[in-house]
Amino acid sequence: DMALYKAKHLGRGRALTYFSNIEEEIRNRRQIEEELRFAIELGQLVLAYQPVVSSKDATVLGYEALLRWDHPGRGLVSPAEFIPIAEETGLIIPIGEWVLRRACLQAVDLPGEPGIGVNLSPVQFMEPGFVETVKAVLAETGLKPERLVLEITESVLIQDFRQTGAILNALSDLGVNIALDDFGTGYSSLSYLRLYPFDRIKIDKSFVDEMAGRPDSLAIISTIISLAQTLGMTVTAEGVETEAQAELLRKMGCDSLQGYHFGRPVRSEELFRVLEDEETQKRVTPYLVHHQ
Ligand code: C2E
Ligand code: MG
Ligand code: MG
Ligand code: MG
Repeated sequence: DMALYKAKHLGRGRALTYFSNIEEEIRNRRQIEEELRFAIELGQLVLAYQPVVSSKDATVLGYEALLRWDHPGRGLVSPAEFIPIAEETGLIIPIGEWVLRRACLQAVDLPGEPGIGVNLSPVQFMEPGFVETVKAVLAETGLKPERLVLEITESVLIQDFRQTGAILNALSDLGVNIALDDFGTGYSSLSYLRLYPFDRIKIDKSFVDEMAGRPDSLAIISTIISLAQTLGMTVTAEGVETEAQAELLRKMGCDSLQGYHFGRPVRSEELFRVLEDEETQKRVTPYLVHHQ
């Protein structure tokens, strides 16, 4: 490999090689940043919804709103790609507010009053006035607070303890639900579970993936479920892809399940279309059946 050879044998060449890569990366990021600035205005941000189902009978309990950037040149861009950039630039504040408002607005029109999950960035969560924003969006859209599930990750919890606690309590006082997302992947300790007012724990997909082959993963899931039950929280398993996984989770007492086995995230237009068909046909959840 020529680049590696240069890097090894020529000090200057090495520096230049790295420099041009970094330069290119910076240029690419700048462009994304620039375009992201206009993405809201241009209507390029869209929400996809993925069902969360009851482990008992697979009825839909709610949906999680997942952000997508419908970019004219790049296609559907994953949040994993642009959320870090949005966080570094502060663009996550208007984007996060857009997601919250949009999800609440669309949820009001969904039949059967399902729950609606919205992911929060730690940056957005710590922004002064965040609780007021949630309050305002609820008032403005008329969504019942108990239908909203705010999903935060463990990274929020390692920040300022008092401030985090105050924000979580204020949100809880609004009547919304708080879910601890991707549980088990961060640096949190179990003591956080009793310090903060969580309503739900979402077990990370990585544990579900390993469940079948690894007794330790199975034991971890089982422990999380009984701990949650003791603390009066519900548990959702994410990334459920097979009936075998669903069956195991059901047996362990996991309340709700989410994953491709029950439904992939679908654009809001498709969700509304399917739900309308369902209503007119008066059938029970054909949506789930046709995604299996
Ligand atoms: P998350 O909140 O843990 O969301 C679950 C992710 O797993 C989603 O990826 C979903 O499409 C994917 N998933 C669900 N079921 C399955 C399955 O059975 N198999 C596989 N392989 N994947 C499955 P997505 O939509 O790419 O989102 C990735 C992450 O980006 C989310 O993880 C969340 O942390 C973040 N994110 C998404 N939307 C937003 C948003 O509006 N705001 C913020 N701050 N973050 C968001
Ligand atoms: Mg989530
Ligand atoms: Mg998750
Ligand atoms: Mg996850």
